[in-house]
Amino acid sequence: MALTLCGRARRLVSATSIHSNGCLLHRQTGSDRFHLGEAKSIRLLPRRTNMVQELGSREEFMQGNREIETSYDFLGEMRQRFLRFKRQKYLPQIEKFQALAIAQSPKVMVIGCADSRVCPSYVLGFQPGEAFTIRNVANLVTPIQNGPTETNSALEFAVTTLQVEDIIVMGHSNCGGIAALMSHQNLQENQYSLVERWVMNGKAAKLRTQAASSHLSFDEQCRNCEKESIKDSVMNLVTYPWIRDRVKRGEVKIHGCYYNLSDCSIEKWRLGSDKNNNGFYVSDREIWS
Ligand SMILES: [Zn+2]
Repeated sequence: MALTLCGRARRLVSATSIHSNGCLLHRQTGSDRFHLGEAKSIRLLPRRTNMVQELGSREEFMQGNREIETSYDFLGEMRQRFLRFKRQKYLPQIEKFQALAIAQSPKVMVIGCADSRVCPSYVLGFQPGEAFTIRNVANLVTPIQNGPTETNSALEFAVTTLQVEDIIVMGHSNCGGIAALMSHQNLQENQYSLVERWVMNGKAAKLRTQAASSHLSFDEQCRNCEKESIKDSVMNLVTYPWIRDRVKRGEVKIHGCYYNLSDCSIEKWRLGSDKNNNGFYVSDREIWS
């Protein structure tokens, strides 16, 4: 069975059920970076059972797998990319990188989605040391009363120790995590996958979306929920007293960003507050296109 890598990788991503419509791009020989979608596709290669089901017989699958192993040495490519990075970027700026080897002082914290297509550094052009970043499925920030997560522990470090000045929640179109949230069924607790349990943290955005746009298609509702969820995460940030106090003093600003992959635009909001700094709201919509 002859399959291109891109075609095979596309099947693999769909097998994760996280991002059913992942768009994978071909790599270009000599490029310094992963192209969006590449790393995840390779990491998923061991999922043979799903692949066998999708591709047909095991014999066909093994033949196809051997084609990949012999025709696409991705780890070898990674090594070459790393050495190019060292030669072309690290060594010419060695003083900068030696300073970064000692400490970091980023001004920005980004909470992005784990989706391989929406790397904040790639899309927003952050250089090493500029943005303290954490990514989770559907870029969710839970309120403080929900307890510790890897995201709010990273937030605590970024805000209280690194003293970042801007926090950005960055969501995106065609988010598989939000699609999982929107298609979530009422099952027994033990029937939920870990992804389903996690994305239910965005339940308020889902309910608000369904109430306001039940006349729209499922995909259109997902687009709306992707944005509503960002706004909820922005509001949840001020449930943390060490963020809320800094926002009130003007030391930290909070933003929401929605990256639309289809037309390469960004919709942006800012957290605003009333004149007494007691009430917060999402405002100042901007479009970057
Ligand atoms: Zn996503």
